[in-house]
Amino acid sequence: MFLSEALSINSKGHLEIGGCDAVELAREFGTPLYVMDEGLIRRNCSSFRDSLMKHYGGNGLILYASKAFCAMAMCRIIESEGLGLDVASGGELYTAIKSGFSMERVYFHGNNKTEGEIELAVENNVGRIIIDNREELFKVHRLASGLGRKVRVTFRIKPGIDAHTHDAVKTGMSNSKFGLTLENGEALEVISQAKAMENIIIKGIHCHIGSQLFHIAPYKAAAQTMVDFLDRIRKTLGVELEEINLGGGFGVRYTARHSSIDIDSFIGEICRTVKEECEKRGIKPPALLLEPGRSIVAPAGITLYTVGTVKGGNGFNRYIIVDGGMADNPRYVLYQAPYEALLAHHPQAPAVSEATIAGKSCESGDILIRNIAMPEVKPGDILAVLATGAYNYSMSSNYNRLPRPAVLLVRNGRARVIVKREDYEDIVRNDIIPDDL
Ligand SMILES: *Cc1c(COP(=O)(O)O)cnc(C)c1O
Repeated sequence: MFLSEALSINSKGHLEIGGCDAVELAREFGTPLYVMDEGLIRRNCSSFRDSLMKHYGGNGLILYASKAFCAMAMCRIIESEGLGLDVASGGELYTAIKSGFSMERVYFHGNNKTEGEIELAVENNVGRIIIDNREELFKVHRLASGLGRKVRVTFRIKPGIDAHTHDAVKTGMSNSKFGLTLENGEALEVISQAKAMENIIIKGIHCHIGSQLFHIAPYKAAAQTMVDFLDRIRKTLGVELEEINLGGGFGVRYTARHSSIDIDSFIGEICRTVKEECEKRGIKPPALLLEPGRSIVAPAGITLYTVGTVKGGNGFNRYIIVDGGMADNPRYVLYQAPYEALLAHHPQAPAVSEATIAGKSCESGDILIRNIAMPEVKPGDILAVLATGAYNYSMSSNYNRLPRPAVLLVRNGRARVIVKREDYEDIVRNDIIPDDL
């Protein structure tokens, strides 16, 4: 049996998260239900923060990549842990604003920011706008000038590194849709254009090479490339950059087959590489930023479902059908992301055969987990899918007009709703019947 980090088994033999009995949570709050362990989120924040302090004297900042799980309560947790926030859209930025997050610690990403989004960022004085492309630099400069503001920017660079992960989450290669190309001189040229812009303050360079990475080598390669580029910018443009941001993507243990990475030794290696590369070139180490997303929240979450029916078996596929699916977790559908599942009332029940956990949406492809060894399961059982804290709620949809589940935050036996369950009124809220119909 695999238990993700937030979980334990209580004296009744039930699954427990944040001191709460998962069966009781399902009964009280209904299913499907996202449950997030606040204690583990905070421990993950502090392990990144403490490692940066230990290995780099705290000269930098850990930014939580909020697209993994973004809600006002989550922004509050990040703020209280002293981390910064990486947002990648106007909606994520607006969530941060509404939560009262300190704007100087908000870093605004995105490869096609709209004018409205840029204005929202500039008016609210975000800490950084990460410039993705040449058009965006001109757009940001024009809008900032129009508003009479100066903006601090960093530039997203494609360092040309293959992070050897799923194609859908590789982002650092020269043919990626994100960022400026290093090898053909585009990145240097755009930064030199920025240098001439009065309302643009150049702060640094950024890269993010991919996600769900378990090896240190691509991070070290990225660190070398970025320090080298920082040095080149200094020599050719005479611009001294204050910071480099090496992105996120730290691998997460979704299933027993994944290894776990030791955050402290990972951060240690990255810091050492940056310092060594700087020393070789005789430059002062810049502030170092990192942007973990999934590694902060994925292991802290589970999703609880009620089993509606069990079909097949006897030579046919055994299907366990639950009351959610691709609408609340599209990650299997998107990239065959693996998950594990347990029965909440009997997580240690021995497996009897393989099964496929499928959802209730009208697609044969609506699968949560394919071919997983499962015990006897009967209708009405509460099934927990593990390590769903990242990119589940944030990627959820209303497909089939399914209301989105609630999100609970649990800690020390207390459960609080941080995103309320949608109801049917939410489903029709934006529908309009024109007068002539
Ligand atoms: C998505 C993203 C991250 C976080 O990735 P994880 O795999 O969740 O750690 C960090 N930085 C940028 C720019 C991203 O787009």
